[in-house]
Amino acid sequence: MISKGELIYEGKAKQLFATNDENVLWVEYLNQATALNGLKKDAILGKGELNNQITSTIFEHLRQAGIKSHFIKKLSKTEQLIEKMTMIPLEVVLRNVTAGSFAKRFGLDEGINLKQPIIEFYYKADELDDPFINDAHVLNFELATAEEIAELKQATLEINQALITMFKKAGIRLIDFKLEFGRNAKGVLVLADEISPDTCRLWDASTNEHLDKDLYRRDLGDIVPVYQEVLRRLDAIKE
Ligand code: ADP
Ligand code: UDP
Repeated sequence: MISKGELIYEGKAKQLFATNDENVLWVEYLNQATALNGLKKDAILGKGELNNQITSTIFEHLRQAGIKSHFIKKLSKTEQLIEKMTMIPLEVVLRNVTAGSFAKRFGLDEGINLKQPIIEFYYKADELDDPFINDAHVLNFELATAEEIAELKQATLEINQALITMFKKAGIRLIDFKLEFGRNAKGVLVLADEISPDTCRLWDASTNEHLDKDLYRRDLGDIVPVYQEVLRRLDAIKE
C-alpha cells in the first residue's frame, strides 16, 4: 500500500509529498491561481479539483496514444500519484497559432495559424522571470545534452499531434501549450508536471471563445465554469 509522507515542495499550483516508495510522489492540486509570475494570486474554489481531473484525463488519453508520462493514477478529486523525476528546468512551449507573449514579441495579432509548429524554450527560474532561451543556452548551462534536446523536441511534436486530435474531437482548437520534462531514476526523459487549461491555450473551435487561464490572466471572467466545460467535453470523448 502506498502511503503519503512529508511535504517536499509547495509550488504555485500544487504540493508534492514523498511516499513510502522513493520513486513515487503524491501530488495535491491546490485551489490557487497565479499569473504574472506570482504577482497576481487568488484562491479559486474548485480549481484544484478541475485541474487534477483534466490533467489525469489528458495523461490517460496520451497513454492510450502510446505517449508515456509521469502519471501513475488519480487518487481522489484533488490528488494524483506520479513517478518522481529530476526535473529539467525548462518550459518547453509549442505554438500552433499566434497568441500571448509570441504575438506581442513579433507585433502580430492573436489567432494566426503558424505555417508549422514552433517550439520555444524558457529557462524555469522565477527570480529571472523565466527568460526565453535557445538550444545554445540549454547546452551552455548544461540543462540538457544535444541528444536530449532532440528528444524533447520530437516528444513535444508527437504530444502536439496527440493533443490536437484529442481536443479537435472535443470541439477545441489547441493554440499553444507548455510542457515540462524530467529524468526518471533510470535517466530516461519523461513528460511530467501537468497539462491543463492553466498550461494550454484552448479556444472553442467554432466561436474562438477562450477556454483557458487567459480569462484569469486578462480579467475576462470566471475560470471555473469554463474549466468545467473543458472537463465535460474531454469526458464526453472518452473511449
Ligand atoms: P511552480 O513550481 O511553477 O510554482 P507547481 O505549483 O505546479 O509550479 O509545482 C509543481 C512542481 O513540481 C514544479 O516545480 C514542477 O517542475 C515539479 N514537478 C512536476 N512533475 C514532477 C515530477 N514527476 N517529479 C518531480 N517534480 C515534478
Ligand atoms: N505557460 C505556462 N506557464 C508559464 C508560461 C506560459 O503554462 O509560466 C503556457 C501558457 O499557458 C501558454 C503557453 O505556455 O499556453 C505560452 O505562453 P506565453 O509564452 O504566450 O506566455 P504568456 O502570454 O502566458 O505570458
